[in-house]
Amino acid sequence: MKVGFIGVGNMGGPMCRNIIKNTNHEVVVFDLNPDAVKACTELGASSGASVADVAAGCDVVITSLPLPKIVEQVTLGDGGIAQNARPGTVFIDLSTNSPATAKRVNDGMKAKGIAMLEAPVSGGTARAAAGTIVIMVGGDEAVFEQNLPLLKSFSGEVIHLGEVGFGSVAKLINNMLAFCNSAAAAEALMMGKRSGIDLHKLDAVIRNASGMSSGYANMATKALAGNFAPTFALDLAHKDLRLAMELADEVGVPGMIAPQVLNLMRMARGMGMGPDDSTSMIRVYEAALNEEVRAP
Ligand code: NAD
Repeated sequence: MKVGFIGVGNMGGPMCRNIIKNTNHEVVVFDLNPDAVKACTELGASSGASVADVAAGCDVVITSLPLPKIVEQVTLGDGGIAQNARPGTVFIDLSTNSPATAKRVNDGMKAKGIAMLEAPVSGGTARAAAGTIVIMVGGDEAVFEQNLPLLKSFSGEVIHLGEVGFGSVAKLINNMLAFCNSAAAAEALMMGKRSGIDLHKLDAVIRNASGMSSGYANMATKALAGNFAPTFALDLAHKDLRLAMELADEVGVPGMIAPQVLNLMRMARGMGMGPDDSTSMIRVYEAALNEEVRAP
């Protein structure tokens, strides 16, 4: 089978490389960034000339793109997948979108005889590289079953949630929870810093106690090392939380905690940290208190 992969960045790159390593499929990649393409062609993928070229020549087309508007442009726009893929092609979107975007893209694909699975992922770049991410899938059950071996080739857990839209719902709720944990971790670490406690020992306690979460672990690892190089950009985390707040509005759930975290992200972006890692949220506290939380 010929698999096209469009968007081979921080997440798409390692997921695509796992398909290359773990299957016998022929893989064709396309990305605006030539270095990202090279990291996949070095492992045996070929390089597509454009979105249209990849879409026209593949049995399955996968995307992992930063923002919903880019997903819409690459899927439904001029020169996009819907215009160029053959009827019968399967389209799998691994990006994080709003449920409404996923449904709109699904309608556009359906009109062209293309079956779609929305399949947002969670686990970050380390688990993407290890092939242990979780994939949350919305879409037709038969299409899901048919593509399960491909999805399993680059993940640890694949969960089918029902029709298109529910994958995005699960992903946005999960990420809202993770960012709240991460923001609380920033506050906790700053409290630790100002109390004078040994931060490595505090960290050892939390990692073995009830305050532990993957949001905490990620924040502590990056803040203590002072490494805010983006594995998950703050701009993308902000996009996810904004979409989660839209969902909360749609379903009428009041926000007591997450809107505060969204404000923290807005502050960090206002300070110019949008392209940095999402854990840069802690640097808002650091700037306010003129003190850094570091323990290299
Ligand atoms: P990224 O910016 O590292 O990668 C996106 C890639 O898409 C880039 O290489 C970029 O050049 C490419 N691209 C952008 N526009 C394009 C276009 N028109 N045509 C072709 N390529 C294009 O982002 P990422 O962190 O890999 O995130 C991708 C998606 O996965 C996002 O929706 C994000 O929310 C989601 N996600 C990210 C993480 C994470 O930890 N980084 C975790 C889970 C989900």
